[in-house]
Amino acid sequence: MIRFLDLHKINQRFEESFKSAFSDFLDVGYYILGNQVSAFEDRFADYCGTKYCVGVGNGLDALRLILEAYKEMGKLAEEDEVLVASNTYIATILAIRQANLVPVLVEADMSDYNFKLDDLPAHINERTAAIMPVHLYGELAPMDAINKFAKDHGLLVIEDAAQGHGAMNSEGIKAGNLGDAAGFSFYPTKNLGALGDGGAVTTNDRQLAEIVRKLRNYGASSKYVNDLKGLNSRLDEVQAAFLLCKLSMLDEDNERRREIATRYLNGIRNDSIILPNYSGSHDHIFHLFVVRVADREGFIEFLNSRKIGSLIHYPIPPHRQKALPEYKMLSFPVCEQIHEEVVSIPISPVMSDEEVEKVISALNDY
Ligand SMILES: *Cc1c(COP(=O)(O)O)cnc(C)c1O
Repeated sequence: MIRFLDLHKINQRFEESFKSAFSDFLDVGYYILGNQVSAFEDRFADYCGTKYCVGVGNGLDALRLILEAYKEMGKLAEEDEVLVASNTYIATILAIRQANLVPVLVEADMSDYNFKLDDLPAHINERTAAIMPVHLYGELAPMDAINKFAKDHGLLVIEDAAQGHGAMNSEGIKAGNLGDAAGFSFYPTKNLGALGDGGAVTTNDRQLAEIVRKLRNYGASSKYVNDLKGLNSRLDEVQAAFLLCKLSMLDEDNERRREIATRYLNGIRNDSIILPNYSGSHDHIFHLFVVRVADREGFIEFLNSRKIGSLIHYPIPPHRQKALPEYKMLSFPVCEQIHEEVVSIPISPVMSDEEVEKVISALNDY
């Protein structure tokens, strides 16, 4: 069986350093917002090339806290509209809703599974205040075009970088440093994954970082001194310690994912399977390798018969989810087709060449 993602095997590589980090953690006996969190924040800001990083509880809160902080700064106001791709993971949309802002869904583009850029101008009105590009599947959103569009219309740019750790444009600028602020998730399956929940905000804006730092901890500027109505969303000390162990492997892991993706792209020759577009550059970290097929059920059945795991990212578009009835009148044909046809096949830094070849020959036999 080739598993879709062997998390145990991924983390096994770090077992010695995890044990030693955990033992240090026990010895120190400091559990919330200690040295491990601040050390990770420094290292991750450094990695992304941003001035600031604030560790938070998860990726959803990272996005929400950025929006709440902009409201505290007077740069966003309740009911302001935020442009977001209709085919994103639902968390992006929920973060906007939780901050009492209005997500405005935009049709997707079949070529890169991101915004249909030509559709953006039609959604602009006097309430439009921000745009939230998602580096979906690990591929950078078209940030040059998005940043130019945002500048023309005075919008804040908030990256959902939950699938983009380490993705880098042609000038060497990384996800997390390509807009005004970014939210990361360290959910265990992400390219940089903790052994539980975790998240972070990166930015070059000192005031924004300071406000997020307060908001994640009850709005406190120091113990029991509350400047803002905050929430409780802190990166766990022990998760920060584990993330520090894993961060030094991230680039190598992303490189291995690109290598596997390149093998797939060169090796899979089947007219029934539509492969992702890839330029061969560092703008993609292949968090997922997503193909499209007309008969998805049959394809997955075939993969099962060949003992190859797969998942669907995602089976139901946000505007068709029961949780978001306010969008059910909307229609996004491209987005809907994507959700009907996509299948993610195995990709991870611990897959062997032999496993990769097995996947390729199975797909060529389909
Ligand atoms: C994982 C993910 C999130 C949410 O992260 P959590 O840590 O699970 O809250 C948000 N956006 C995208 C695109 C994601 O993939």
